[in-house]
Amino acid sequence: MPNLDIAVIGSGIGGSLISSLNTHKDLILFEKESNLGGCASTFKRKKNFYNAGATTFVGYENNHPLKNIFDKINFIPDIKKSEIAIRVIQNKKIINRVKDFETFLKNINEVYPHKNNRIFWTNLKIIDEKFWHLKKLYYAKYSILSYLRTLNSILELCSFFKFDIFKSANSFINDFINDISQEYKDFIDSQLLITIQSSSKDISLLSLALGLSYPFHDVFYVNNGMGSIFDDLLQNVNVHKKEEILQIRKEESFYRIISSKNEYLSKRVILNSSIYDTSKLFDDKKIKNYYNSFSFSDQSAFVINLTLDSKEIFLNHYQIILDDNIPNTISKSFFISFSSKEDKRLSKNGYSITISTHTKAVFWNNMSKNEYEQNKQVTQDFIINSFLKNFESVKKEDIIDIFSATSKTFKRFINRYNCGGKAITLKNILQTPSCTTPFKGLYNVGDTIFAGQGWPGIAIGVNVLNREING
Ligand SMILES: Cc1cc2nc3c(=O)[nH]c(=O)nc-3n(C[C@H](O)[C@H](O)[C@H](O)COP(=O)(O)OP(=O)(O)OC[C@H]3O[C@@H](n4cnc5c(N)ncnc54)[C@H](O)[C@@H]3O)c2cc1C
Repeated sequence: MPNLDIAVIGSGIGGSLISSLNTHKDLILFEKESNLGGCASTFKRKKNFYNAGATTFVGYENNHPLKNIFDKINFIPDIKKSEIAIRVIQNKKIINRVKDFETFLKNINEVYPHKNNRIFWTNLKIIDEKFWHLKKLYYAKYSILSYLRTLNSILELCSFFKFDIFKSANSFINDFINDISQEYKDFIDSQLLITIQSSSKDISLLSLALGLSYPFHDVFYVNNGMGSIFDDLLQNVNVHKKEEILQIRKEESFYRIISSKNEYLSKRVILNSSIYDTSKLFDDKKIKNYYNSFSFSDQSAFVINLTLDSKEIFLNHYQIILDDNIPNTISKSFFISFSSKEDKRLSKNGYSITISTHTKAVFWNNMSKNEYEQNKQVTQDFIINSFLKNFESVKKEDIIDIFSATSKTFKRFINRYNCGGKAITLKNILQTPSCTTPFKGLYNVGDTIFAGQGWPGIAIGVNVLNREING
């Protein structure tokens, strides 16, 4: 029976990054699917390739935890900068989210004039910049050293900021731009929903700053699909694809891991499955109770993939903001990503497009098959009609293939109903799970634990985990 130092379960961003940092150990990365990357994977359907969820790549710049990890392992991703990170279209008005602050400010002042726009956006940008220069960012529990490092991190955070960064985002908005229109407010909330999975009413000033400043960083397009990063990143890692872990038993000095193909013993286990879908793997009551103690984050994604035959040139990323909620969702907006025309893999038969918005995860569960299909069609048709209204050069007949995914689809393929991560809010900050657990040798990584979702957030969590497992 194979005897391991570390078994990593899941090849999402978290599982892949931590594996790539520990190739010197006796480590196996298990992935139930044939595609690597989970929510950030790329898959093939019929003759075309599509991104399953994530399409924007951020954090590849100096001082950022993600770039530091890539530098440590000498990995250079195959990426291309999107000069206009996101084009936001709201009632025919256009706001280009670009990195250059003055260009953005001019644009926002034209669309949503306000005397305090400069000070409002400058303060957010300053907080964001300072945050990414923090040196001691840490959050872990269950050992004295972990608590000390966390305390050190909080002290650094408090001494570094002149603003009260844990005050509510809404009070900051009210201090500077309290009389803004509903449209401007929707613009802010829609941007927050895609970057930090929450709206301004539940979050701190720090989250507001990080969420709205996302496009002040370099935003990249990943050539050949987001999933191709994982194929390149994991070249030196022992990856077992199409091998699902079914059960993990805690024994005296190791964990017994039972997969769909074999049985393994490992001193340490790193779970990249979402925190809500993990208890079923264990029979140990204490471990089960631990994972069941986290209240489910009922948020997920509705994703449409399509291939579009068009000669037009498009940007990589758009966000369309509507006046009302999209049927069966919790959002007024949807995000559209186009493959680059010159991308030989994704654009081989036309543009590969991923459209996504936010829904409740459990909404799609308790329906008959018919109801489920009908509801899916309603949401898909509504989004596609809005898409066509906003892109007048695109005709319905140019869409070659189209299909959509709900939380049920995500569960089937990558084992999670909740998607896009859990926002760290004012209410849940102290309950946020850490990479360490109360059980020796058992760890978590990914977007349902600190520091949250996406490449930049998960990279912070990976750095903390790497320090915990390597002393
Ligand atoms: C629609 C959508 C759009 C998004 N857009 C962006 C974006 O543009 N940019 C960005 O940075 N982030 C984006 N995100 C967020 C980002 O994709 C996620 O936060 C991130 O990919 C989650 O990574 P993770 O490490 O938590 O692993 P996950 O993606 O959850 O992957 C976990 C992996 O574990 C595997 N697994 C689970 N259980 C088992 C088991 N028992 N045995 C073996 N394998 C198992 C799964 O198959 C999966 O591959 C988006 C998310 C969604 C849903």
